[in-house]
Amino acid sequence: MMGFTLPDVNVPVVKTTNCLLAADITEFPDPPPEQACIRCGFCAEACPAQLLPQQLLWFAKAQEFEKAELFNLADCIECGACAYVCPSSIPLVQYYRYAKGEIRHLKADQSKSDNARVRFEARQARLDKEQAEKEARRKARADAAAAQQKAKADESGS
Ligand code: SF4
Ligand code: SF4
Repeated sequence: MMGFTLPDVNVPVVKTTNCLLAADITEFPDPPPEQACIRCGFCAEACPAQLLPQQLLWFAKAQEFEKAELFNLADCIECGACAYVCPSSIPLVQYYRYAKGEIRHLKADQSKSDNARVRFEARQARLDKEQAEKEARRKARADAAAAQQKAKADESGS
């Protein structure tokens, strides 16, 4: 089942809220303890997005997020069908949410550092340009002073 458990009843209903389930402990008992994956393949058979949930589980656990992306983690609609049929009671969707969150953070960090690098390079280019202009002005002044001195020397020599 899609969705997540609310921390308390004061969480507001917003326009993206589809439905609320108020089940008691008999309807939604605590899940049995997670066990090791036995590679039965039931999860892959149940997945409506034709993903390989057990592979995605390995990648999420091993923090191999690039591989998870290669195996189309982003296409997971978090329907929970894989977790529902899993005989090892593995909370697969929670692993996928964790991996998706980590990927989002990594991308945000990457984009932040890319922006910082672009800003640094732009600043460096501006400083180089200002330095070159300063140097050109200094050289022009020196040339003008040398020409003036030469003219004075020519005048006094004639
Ligand atoms: S259904 Fe559960 S135990 Fe079976 S392969 Fe998938 S993750 Fe592993
Ligand atoms: S939660 Fe994701 S991986 Fe699992 S069955 Fe649904 S779409 Fe497939």
